[in-house]
Amino acid sequence: MNDLTRLRDHLATIGDLHSAAALLRWDQETYMPPGGAGIRARQLATLSRLAHERFTSPLTGSLLEEAEPLLNRLASDSDDAALLRVTRRDFDRARKLPAEFVAERARAASESTEVWRTARPANDFPAFRPHLARMVEFARRTADYLGYTQHPYDALLDQYEPETTTRDVAALFDRLREVTVPLVRAIAARGEVADARFLDREYAEEPVRGFALSIIRSFGYDTARGRLDTSAHPFSTQFGRDDVRITTRYPRRSLGALFGAFHEAGHAMYSQGSAPSLDGTPLGDGASHGIHESQSRLWENLVGRSRPFWQYAFPGLRQVFPAHLGSVDAELFYRAVNRVRPGLIRVDADEVTYNLHIIFRFELEQALVAGDLDVKDVPETWNAKMAESLGVTPPDDRDGVMQDIHWSLGMIGYFPSYTIGNVASVQFFEAARRAHPGLAEDIRLGRFGGLLGWLRDHVHAHGRKFLPKDLLFRATGGPLTPEPYLRYLREKFGEIYGLGGGGG
Ligand code: ZN
Repeated sequence: MNDLTRLRDHLATIGDLHSAAALLRWDQETYMPPGGAGIRARQLATLSRLAHERFTSPLTGSLLEEAEPLLNRLASDSDDAALLRVTRRDFDRARKLPAEFVAERARAASESTEVWRTARPANDFPAFRPHLARMVEFARRTADYLGYTQHPYDALLDQYEPETTTRDVAALFDRLREVTVPLVRAIAARGEVADARFLDREYAEEPVRGFALSIIRSFGYDTARGRLDTSAHPFSTQFGRDDVRITTRYPRRSLGALFGAFHEAGHAMYSQGSAPSLDGTPLGDGASHGIHESQSRLWENLVGRSRPFWQYAFPGLRQVFPAHLGSVDAELFYRAVNRVRPGLIRVDADEVTYNLHIIFRFELEQALVAGDLDVKDVPETWNAKMAESLGVTPPDDRDGVMQDIHWSLGMIGYFPSYTIGNVASVQFFEAARRAHPGLAEDIRLGRFGGLLGWLRDHVHAHGRKFLPKDLLFRATGGPLTPEPYLRYLREKFGEIYGLGGGGG
């Protein structure tokens, strides 16, 4: 056995512990009876602790040290070199956080999330406030342990988007806001351009599920290595590339479940497409949360909310729901599922307003972490920022500051990944279109193999081998840039809303 084989075996065992925990979590969200919650929490804590202990053990360090001299002989883009680079990075980071701190933070996060689950429906921010304050404090301490040069937020961001700084994100977001705010105003001035009331009817769950499944299979989601279930919060989870499961939900029996399924299938196809050689290693995952989100948004929006796609798919959907959609055609359906309406809830936001929800969360998080904003003032600041950027004011904290689960879990620094994903999705899509100029026509004919094949070769196969910025550069020939995304928004919505010249 050479040195790398021992390291691989060691990491595979840790990976198995993580997969077992993920399977328990999947079960918890889908089929577990409520009575199982108590014992399940303990089982999950045990598996996470075992994985963390093994990974941060001196054995990992010595296996790495034994193997690292190989780096001189390995091609830098080889699997082995990437495995050594990524494992070293993960190991050094994990070792910076004392085990006791990690355990204490995990306990606080689960308490805080429990409180959030009841405080949100009760619209009781004061009950949640001390927990939020605690999670902000944990975020600060995390940043201190991990280290940073400019802003503590850099350290938090780096957990989700390796080597992306607060400054990079701020520059990206400034440009997005500069174009998006006037675009939203111009759209609002036009009013509704399509009668979308048919979307508000009730669509029975089972036929929606069947239709969603047939579409995501045609996208290329392999149900011999995956399955679609139902949960309160849609998610995708994987236990290796050959078992990648997704869920969707059927809120108010709307067609929203379709887009949820397209989104999660985008995540899942990324996981199913990683190279078999990366399976069972820390590389068998996405490059970052933002890159993962680029894949889900690409299938949800660039494909799933496009005109060619609905020209292909709408007749099938109308056949499933003739009473609901008998008087609707593909063009009206396309316009209706792309209506732009500034609203309170991030997860319900359209493509144009979505990033505005992220931008003010990013600002709030920085202020909280820097100590420039007191937790007690968060609701008021939240509401003021909503009014300023979206022109709507939450009537309560339930649909305001408490709408997202992230802060209760201590996931501060995560939100920018959503917008990075939106921006990157267009860059990937355009690169795929340069390689396949007939892409729109393919989509109109329900042929998705060319697109998926390009994504597999340029994104999926690489798993976590490359840093997000390197992956993006290799695949698209350039760095992360907002211009393609902004052009896409102006052209698509300029045309739908008749803003003239493809939108100025
Ligand atoms: Zn997602």
